Amino acid sequence: MRKLKLENSYKNLPSKLYSEVKLNPVRLPELKVFNYALATEMGLPIDFLQSEAGVSILAGNASPEGGPLISQAYAGHQFGSFTMLGDGRAMLLGEHITPHGQLVDIQLKGSGKTPYSRGGDGRAALGPMLREYIISEAMHGLGIPTTRSLSVVSTGEAVIREKMLAGAVLARVASSHIRVGTFEFIARWGTPEELKALADYTIKRHYPQLDNEENPYLSLLREVVRRQVELIVKWENVGFIHGVMNTDNMSISGETIDYGPCAFMDTFNPMTVFSSIDTNGRYAFGRQRHIAGWNLARFAETLLPLIDKESSKALQLAQDILSQYGNQHRKRWLVQMQSKLGLVGDPSEDEVLINDLLDLMLKEKSDYTNTFRALTLNQPKETNLYGTEGFEKWYDSWQNRLERQSISRNESDKMMRSTNPSIIPRNHQVEAALESAVKNNDYTIIEQLNKALVDPYAYSKDQISYVDPPSTNGLQYRTYCGT
Ligand code: AMP
Ligand code: MG
Repeated sequence: MRKLKLENSYKNLPSKLYSEVKLNPVRLPELKVFNYALATEMGLPIDFLQSEAGVSILAGNASPEGGPLISQAYAGHQFGSFTMLGDGRAMLLGEHITPHGQLVDIQLKGSGKTPYSRGGDGRAALGPMLREYIISEAMHGLGIPTTRSLSVVSTGEAVIREKMLAGAVLARVASSHIRVGTFEFIARWGTPEELKALADYTIKRHYPQLDNEENPYLSLLREVVRRQVELIVKWENVGFIHGVMNTDNMSISGETIDYGPCAFMDTFNPMTVFSSIDTNGRYAFGRQRHIAGWNLARFAETLLPLIDKESSKALQLAQDILSQYGNQHRKRWLVQMQSKLGLVGDPSEDEVLINDLLDLMLKEKSDYTNTFRALTLNQPKETNLYGTEGFEKWYDSWQNRLERQSISRNESDKMMRSTNPSIIPRNHQVEAALESAVKNNDYTIIEQLNKALVDPYAYSKDQISYVDPPSTNGLQYRTYCGT
């Protein structure tokens, strides 16, 4: 049987960037969820991973072939304050080369203490690890760059939080775990050579096309900005709220990373916050675009010494890129919103139409997903806007606008169907699935939910049972960091 053999390219980086770690075995590992589709896509040895020896690795009880395990060092701005962090409850099993030749990290989360654990126990609870599995896979289904989830293994051990909870280890796959915080760490505590080594590694791994550019580090900044714009707009398209956009939770590759207190918005309101610790709404739905810009400025600061020897020139060059961020985001967002309404053409002409709809939705407390779902299905009566002041006029102007464009009505419908999801992982449904798994050891509801979310744009019959928003006011839903 083919075993799991992994690479270790991160170990070629300056040793300050990681620590070798020992295994912290758990008592009774049991494979609870396994992602066949992902394992197949990645060309992993599926039979082996499901065998006792394989589950041992996925639980952090044994090492795969390929060298020592490491935890990564990073710093970060948490709610605006700079601090030293690092993988406090995670370790990198190694890197795997997919059949497409892509190098991806396989990391365990909840695998025990590391030199970066500070006061924490290095462990994770089953509920939050299953939640990361469900949401990250749903994000993938929604076509949003994200880390993936390979497996969840229960540990047979309790973790102590406010109460005793069942422990678990998540295996997650990422195109890398290099964060803005990784750059902040080495910029603060490393030498210029160490910073350069990280930047060169990042370029080689994520942006190889920049290698021959005149100023690859400036180009790196430009590309990271571009990918973040894409990511934020995609979050906005589906009402995703990350919840804790600290710089250590922003990946340089442009993937969504670190699913803690994230949640999907039901009722449209840019000020929506679910995270119990985000008391000032720093990471509210509508603020994510600004926070991403703030985080990118922290990233840019770390690159300054590489961008130009002359600091004032480096600053000017970086600022030129950052100053375009707001506009770049606005343009890209408008095009995305146009797609939601089946429109093509000069986006600035549709800005009023788009904002008028959002204003109506805010006023009427409309469900974000279901409003666009109903418009997609050409069922305006199904929205709660129907019959309210202003909607008829808006609807008529939208219909007029649809007639006045270069694409056919049919193409327009197709565009809306592939932009507006029929379903999202709604908080109340995710909670119900988790409860059944954690309390009753019944994983059928999770499996059904995951299946429905494989293609959220399918508009299939079996998705209808996931369409309804929560019956009580979903805004009262609270999420926790799951630590
Ligand atoms: P997060 O909020 O998940 O992004 O985590 C922020 C920091 O806290 C990271 O450095 C984590 O590794 C660390 N951390 C979170 N939970 C634990 C835990 N149970 N034990 C040790 N460190 C943790
Ligand atoms: Mg984190």
